[in-house]
Amino acid sequence: MANSDDQNCTAHVALIPSSGMGHLTPFLRLAVSLISHVRVTLITAHPTVSLAESQTLSCFFSTYPQITESQLLLNTFDAPSEDPFYIQYEAIRRSSHLLSPILCSLCPPLSALITDMSLASTIIPVTQALNLPNYVLFTSSAHMSTLFLSFHTIARSSGESDLFTVPGMQPLPISWIPPPLLSEKDSLFRTQLLENGKAMLQADGILINTFERFEQEPLASLNAGEVLTRLPLVTSIGPFAPCSFERIQPLTWLDGQPMNSVVFASFGSRTAISREQIKELAEGLLRSECRFIWVVKEKKVDREDDKVLDELVGEEFMTKAIDKGLVVNQWVNQEQILSHPAVGGFISHCGWNSVTEAAWHGVPILGWPQHGDQKMNAYVLSRAGLGIWAENWGWGGEMVVKGMEISEKIREVMENNQLRAQVVKIRENARAAVAEGGSSHGGVIELIQIWKNKS
Ligand code: UDP
Ligand code: UDP
Repeated sequence: MANSDDQNCTAHVALIPSSGMGHLTPFLRLAVSLISHVRVTLITAHPTVSLAESQTLSCFFSTYPQITESQLLLNTFDAPSEDPFYIQYEAIRRSSHLLSPILCSLCPPLSALITDMSLASTIIPVTQALNLPNYVLFTSSAHMSTLFLSFHTIARSSGESDLFTVPGMQPLPISWIPPPLLSEKDSLFRTQLLENGKAMLQADGILINTFERFEQEPLASLNAGEVLTRLPLVTSIGPFAPCSFERIQPLTWLDGQPMNSVVFASFGSRTAISREQIKELAEGLLRSECRFIWVVKEKKVDREDDKVLDELVGEEFMTKAIDKGLVVNQWVNQEQILSHPAVGGFISHCGWNSVTEAAWHGVPILGWPQHGDQKMNAYVLSRAGLGIWAENWGWGGEMVVKGMEISEKIREVMENNQLRAQVVKIRENARAAVAEGGSSHGGVIELIQIWKNKS
């Protein structure tokens, strides 16, 4: 991105993510990409749910002292049967009235707020009252945004069919729709998604961490009014480049491995895997005969991941794994691992950041979606040629996938030269999108211009 007249620039943009590393990370990367153009404030909700979020935030603010932190201290909200990250979305949503004084006190006055899509319906009214432009950042795929935005118009239309019709898209197998959306039972997931999708019509713009060549069709449909009429402009501004503050760990073991020989297995920051499935995955990794790095996670929230490794994967596996791989049950720097030349494949739950990071580094994915938007994302990556989707494995927890089957799929990804060549092309396209002259770069430059004209 071209440097600008930083000294004279008075445009000031605030960003407010919701919760979980899957939302925080893209907001931090976007914030960093804006600092050479505008003044940036990050509004953070406290206390955070995970340890990873609080550690990342402290590292972020010490690396970028020019970014101001403004803290939103949350009113507690309790819903014991719900996911802790969705409870946190709800706590932030219910604290939205506290935002007005924060937004008004920032200096110089704000030109715009960038809001997480999971907070849209309660924050847009606040910014409308202040006459402050509000741009919603969608942290998942453009395909998922199509469902998210239109769901309030189609929620009851599935009937008995095996297909689900989303405006602007080919009918989708109903099994790809996040299950809570189809349930009769009210859940935070469903209620918030309905409200946020509807409210995003009132945003000043919708920004998506994707790029045109990756998701051309849904981006075109969204802006052609085929999904909803009167939708604000949807701009693809990704994939967000990883930032230097995230690169903190030595990768000594990886440095000693041959190129493309290691498969990396990780299911993101908030997905728990059952003990039985952990056992089969262990077996699959060993049987594949590939080298591997595996991040084992048995609990959704990192603070609760208190079991020692031997207990999780068994002593026998630990002994057998010594020559073949690394197994950890703590936070690793995924982006840095994916950037390493020894890594040649990625077993992923298809969280959108994981998909965009794999595209950025050109690592083929074996997609194993677990919940939420992940089947939609798995569809995107397999369609684009970034990997394969083991579609008959279903959602996480729906069945226990056997080690033998896992090992076959790992080899299918690791030994596929055609896939490897396609992925190199996707990496080039991803980087070209955010380089000067690229589609996503152009989108950001236009936004910056709008904000500067406003200030
Ligand atoms: N991540 C990481 N180390 C871990 C687990 C996750 O660096 O041990 C990062 C990963 O690189 C990504 C984010 O956390 O940037 C997770 O987001 P994603 O959308 O992939 O999945 P989620 O965690 O939201 O399910
Ligand atoms: N979502 C939401 N409100 C909810 C639950 C989910 O807005 O109560 C959004 C969420 O942010 C994501 C999508 O719906 O984009 C799919 O949910 P998932 O569980 O995959 O969330 P993520 O891991 O991205 O937070």
